[in-house]
Amino acid sequence: MISLARDTIMAVGARPPHKFPAGYYCYVGSAMNNLDKRIARHFSPEKRRRWHIDYFLDQAAITAVLTFESTRRRECALSQAVAGPADGLVMKGFGSSDCRCRTHLHYFREDPLPLLEKILQKFTPVRKKPKMKGLG
Ligand SMILES: [Zn+2]
Repeated sequence: MISLARDTIMAVGARPPHKFPAGYYCYVGSAMNNLDKRIARHFSPEKRRRWHIDYFLDQAAITAVLTFESTRRRECALSQAVAGPADGLVMKGFGSSDCRCRTHLHYFREDPLPLLEKILQKFTPVRKKPKMKGLG
């Protein structure tokens, strides 16, 4: 979860400058290994700008981090679930150069945190009870 205090024109990566309206942004990313390290990287101002989100975070502030664990890649499914209630598409292709999603950055006028927590509940792996092996 990221907040942008005022309308900001920024160039992310090689893209031409683009206007991002003030408000809240939900960025959906993944780290197949070392989630803590990836999150710490997002918070660090000292890094080589590599992804769209790196440029975006130069101008905006992380307000919350929500995580879930999965053995499969589910970031695109989550991103699409978040896209539904979002307030429009701010930049097509943000963070989704490697997949078929329209974007992995979702814009909200109002703080969507409670809504996102609810969406994420569906992605938390449920610990299943071990199956009973054939009795006799
Ligand atoms: Zn995707």
